[in-house]
Amino acid sequence: MSREAELAPYAVTQAQSRGRQRVETAPHYRSEFQRDRDRVIHSKAFRRLEYKTQVFVNHEGDLFRTRLTHSLEVAQLARSVARSLRLNEDLSEAITLAHDLGHTPFGHAGQTALNTCMHDYGGFEHNLQSLRVVDTLEEKYPDFDGLNLLFETREGILKHCPLSKAGALGEVGARFLTGQQPSLEAQLANLADEIAYNNHDVDDGLRAGLLDLAALRSQPLFAEHDRAVCQRWPQLSLKRQISETIRRMINAQLIDLIETSRARLAAAQPTDLAAVRHHPQPLISFSDGMLAQHRALKAFLHEHLYQHYRVHRMSTKAQRIISQLFAALMADPGLLPPSAREHQATWAAQWGTDTAQARGVADYIAGMTDRYAIAEYERLFNATTLP
Ligand code: MG
Repeated sequence: MSREAELAPYAVTQAQSRGRQRVETAPHYRSEFQRDRDRVIHSKAFRRLEYKTQVFVNHEGDLFRTRLTHSLEVAQLARSVARSLRLNEDLSEAITLAHDLGHTPFGHAGQTALNTCMHDYGGFEHNLQSLRVVDTLEEKYPDFDGLNLLFETREGILKHCPLSKAGALGEVGARFLTGQQPSLEAQLANLADEIAYNNHDVDDGLRAGLLDLAALRSQPLFAEHDRAVCQRWPQLSLKRQISETIRRMINAQLIDLIETSRARLAAAQPTDLAAVRHHPQPLISFSDGMLAQHRALKAFLHEHLYQHYRVHRMSTKAQRIISQLFAALMADPGLLPPSAREHQATWAAQWGTDTAQARGVADYIAGMTDRYAIAEYERLFNATTLP
């Protein structure tokens, strides 16, 4: 039996796929979905994820998650759930490995700063940028720009989209206007992302000494598993205690997600992918109880980790670096390396000179890793650093 035949009727299959924007010959010895996964892994933007961060800046320590390890963790979680629900595991992997490709250096702080800089030129949003990376910015193939990924992979990458932008995106933006659901694999990627970062931010936050264990015990999800671990192993080292607690939290969330989604699928009985798209709500979800615990933990991390004064200090530095780089490169595009100016004429014909220039600068900055952005800042503003 082929792998396709093992999939549930509501999974994305090759037969149900809307295919690629440019038609290509079928791959040998792998599916179209595997081909997408492979294209993502071989992209330049994927390699850069190793030196980009979410909360901590890359040079702060070797044990913190980077966007690369985050993406691998998300892919692992999504694949486990996809397999148990008989969804398309290869598609889940392709979406999750690609979901953060459009992120700026310095995580959320970088995105906020670049969005502010781009205010008069259409803004900057990492989800749209991830799509722009795979649709336009990767330059690898003789016949097309981007990676020419399947519709379903692109749809999964674009998890949010402001209504004002959806129209210009064609069929991949249409569901935001019609209120349809994306595939189950895309719904799953979204939740796997949330499970991964909530849990690894607890882990990294404790390791960095920014989160307080006693305060974390106010969180029902953490407290329940922490209590069970401490009771079973009263003499355990703190390192193993935290690790085991987080392992159990992830496990509990995945089991809840699988069982809740399975029950919803059994009740809704979608007969195919079209039925999934037309269903009024997403069918992949946590139970109400788990959702409440998950949101509480997210709010806790927001208050205690992302707004911690040490994270805030680094964030303000990051914002200063991004906005000063943007201002300098906008004021004098001659400072840009030629490769970052290559498409200016084409884009100017489409959007006008100023917007094309701003978009080119935003693409250049968004593509930087944390350390590249710091080095570029030094090259532009430090009199003794070689240009
Ligand atoms: Mg993510």
